[in-house]
Amino acid sequence: MSEALANTRPFVHLHIHTEYSLLDGACRIDQLMDRVKECGQTAIACTDHGVMYGCVQFYKAAKKAGIKPIIGCEVYVATRTRFDKVNKIDGNNHLILLCKNETGYKNLIKMVSAGFTEGFYSKPRIDKQLLEKYHDGLICLSACLAGEIPKALLAGDYDRARQTALWYRDLFGAENYYIELQDHGLEEDQAVLPQLIRLARETGIPMVATNDAHYITKEDAKMQSILLCIQTGKTINDVDRMEFQTDEFYLKSTDEMYDLFSMVPEACENTNKIAEQCNFEFTFGETKLPYFKATCGEKSAQLTRLMAVMGLGIKQGQTVTVTIDGSDEDKAFEELQTQFRENA
Ligand SMILES: [Zn+2]
Ligand SMILES: [Zn+2]
Repeated sequence: MSEALANTRPFVHLHIHTEYSLLDGACRIDQLMDRVKECGQTAIACTDHGVMYGCVQFYKAAKKAGIKPIIGCEVYVATRTRFDKVNKIDGNNHLILLCKNETGYKNLIKMVSAGFTEGFYSKPRIDKQLLEKYHDGLICLSACLAGEIPKALLAGDYDRARQTALWYRDLFGAENYYIELQDHGLEEDQAVLPQLIRLARETGIPMVATNDAHYITKEDAKMQSILLCIQTGKTINDVDRMEFQTDEFYLKSTDEMYDLFSMVPEACENTNKIAEQCNFEFTFGETKLPYFKATCGEKSAQLTRLMAVMGLGIKQGQTVTVTIDGSDEDKAFEELQTQFRENA
């Protein structure tokens, strides 16, 4: 650890886009862990945009580096329901979700999957209905300028921002919902930040400071601009290309974060509090397939094949016992179907 970055104040980055935020995040996972260590930070979250396919690599790399991994996602929440897909009406708001435990992880993967299979409209979108059903075991942060609350504040609607914050607080519970503060030097940040702090103080909802890290160091901002060009079909010379307005979207040191939010040091301290609550661990190398037990002698192999074909709908760890007389394959199917229905 470099002396300059060593510190005793705790800070954990809870809003990170790895290379798995495709063509958007430029944090290479291994290099990310080196940087976290260099900063003297002991944990880090993975919150890719709408997806979780980087989580296992992230988890393994963090463990290897002796850093506590926190599994999460920056989800897109449909502005109406995930089934509404009308041009110019239905969009999405960003929201950060972090897994406290296995229940939270299972709930998060259910929602993220439904975001693709049911809610996909330009982005994989979940909705408030899913959050009502699957919020257990998760910590929720109000996200960046593209979150529902900052958007309401930018539109001058403080009341709507307040109502939204209270809705999320009531759903997740007081200890699991935080107003997220960010400052990347944007004009909008300066407009929204004081209002977010006011909202947190008025409602008693705790604050948390994050940096929307899309790359590891300040110098990497250029690389990320090129990624965005590839994503949007532009070249680096196009004047009208979409790009981040500042080069502040990197993994900041603990001191940089405390300096940035010196008016609300508790927002930095809360990052550590949240990290301590997030203790989901993956278990690798354990067979999770259901156990099949066939009592029909040499027909076992045949039955196993049938079961594999019929396998959908069997729960993890479930034991299915099938007894077949003779060699009637149709009857075997029938019996299997009955058992699956009963056990579903
Ligand atoms: Zn965002
Ligand atoms: Zn983000």
